[in-house]
Amino acid sequence: MGPLFRGFFSMYPDCHSCNLKFEREQGYFVGAIYINYGATAIIMIAGFFWLDRFINLSLAQQLTFWSIFGVGFPLFFFRYSRSLWLSLDYIFNPEDTSGRPRESGVS
Ligand SMILES: [Zn+2]
Repeated sequence: MGPLFRGFFSMYPDCHSCNLKFEREQGYFVGAIYINYGATAIIMIAGFFWLDRFINLSLAQQLTFWSIFGVGFPLFFFRYSRSLWLSLDYIFNPEDTSGRPRESGVS
């Protein structure tokens, strides 16, 4: 597998070594946004209760901390969510390099 990203946010159109097309269609990476949003929400909700239980922060401190986290984490996680989405799609909906879906169930 060749590199996915050429900049922090910009991707190569396809894989250098196997020609896998990364963005198969317009809006393809909306799935990655769901992954990113889901991961952020789960960490924020669980983290809120964890901090509330083990560290004595005021509500204002909690809200400040999680507001910053809620902006910063999705930026940090952006690349991971895209590569996760790409690999999940590759596993469950494989495609050959011609752009047509493979016959399922037949090898
Ligand atoms: Zn590859």
